[in-house]
Amino acid sequence: MIQPIENSYNVLTIKSDFPILSQTHQTGKPLTYLDNAASSQMPISVIDALSDYHRRYHANVHRGIHQLSELATEGYESARKKVRDFIHAKSKREIIFTKGTTEGINLVVNAWGRANLGAGDVILLSQMEHHANIVPYQMLASEKGFIVRYIPITDKGEIDMDAYQRLLTDNPVKLVGVTHCSNVLGTINPITEMARLAHEAGAIIVIDGAQSAPHMPIDVQVLDVDFFAFSGHKMCAPTGVGVLYGKQALLEAMPPFLGGGSMISEVTFDGFTTGELPAKFEAGTPNIAQAIGLGYAMDYLNGIGLDNIHHHIKTITEYALDRLSELPHIIIYGHSPNRGGVISFTLGDIHAHDLSQALDFEGIAVRSGHHCAQPLHRLLGIPATTRASFYLYTTKADIDRLVEALYKISTFFVSKR
Ligand SMILES: *Cc1c(COP(=O)(O)O)cnc(C)c1O
Repeated sequence: MIQPIENSYNVLTIKSDFPILSQTHQTGKPLTYLDNAASSQMPISVIDALSDYHRRYHANVHRGIHQLSELATEGYESARKKVRDFIHAKSKREIIFTKGTTEGINLVVNAWGRANLGAGDVILLSQMEHHANIVPYQMLASEKGFIVRYIPITDKGEIDMDAYQRLLTDNPVKLVGVTHCSNVLGTINPITEMARLAHEAGAIIVIDGAQSAPHMPIDVQVLDVDFFAFSGHKMCAPTGVGVLYGKQALLEAMPPFLGGGSMISEVTFDGFTTGELPAKFEAGTPNIAQAIGLGYAMDYLNGIGLDNIHHHIKTITEYALDRLSELPHIIIYGHSPNRGGVISFTLGDIHAHDLSQALDFEGIAVRSGHHCAQPLHRLLGIPATTRASFYLYTTKADIDRLVEALYKISTFFVSKR
């Protein structure tokens, strides 16, 4: 494996690949984009690939025996191979294209869950989950009567591993659902170990990879997870495409989720038989352009190197943590040393929405609210936080601008009081 060499990482060159980032904000100030945990931006190579598809070979896949359809099918299936290699899956049959992380988890819950979870069964989620990794389970639990328990987190914002082990042995747990990296606390969870423990207890493990797949090398075989869901739009690809990885044996054994074209082998007026993987889980016309775009996004990320990207994000996050903690009245949530590129905070008693609005007047894009993790915010005892989130193109200058703006805003709000 190539060791990251800091000097070879030219963040300004990388940033110049993203046309949207060189814009001027409507205030006339430069744009500082720190909302990457919600959606990242697209490099020119991805924008060009989407345009090329639409100009040259847009057609429906898999069905047509004509040139455009064949080209579109080739593009779509080659994107699948890129995904397989990106996450080191064994086979492209294990790669299901979805709309995003949310749809991937809903697929697991409705296909695997519906077939395997019943009254009295227990599943474990963590207290730091995104709504996408809670609500689908709650919906099915209310129908099937299984029990959802939550793995507590520590004061640092890490999974309480002792409590996890206790919860695993106390109950016949069937499934563990956990995020690889928290979109609020930034914590990167010890997935390999959690997967090993889940398997020892006879449970499967489903990973929400929305915040990890964009930021670090992923090897689903080393992690040994059963399902792993992520979204394209957080990793330099367009919206509307995501991936569900599943171990082949599990995917083969479970019933389909959505019914319709492509997912069948044969249909009669009386019934149907399901098609082969991965088509079995891709009913209807897929998001062809977006999937091709995701393949190009992965080419782009590979070109820089996921190790290098991970290293850059770690460096920039440490720098941001240092600089932000200079601010009086700031409270940062999440103190795991093992963390990704998100920092959630409150500043005195300035309302999170006022704060992000004031930052927008400075040309700085962040996010405020509960970040789709209301139960976690309730646990932290706060209604909302402001979140700055970083990516491969985030510079120290971006962080400096954020910190300066926060100084200015806090002075303003304090003097008004
Ligand atoms: C963004 C996000 C999701 C949801 O992703 P979608 O692309 O909106 O489906 C789920 N979990 C985490 C941790 C996220 O950050």
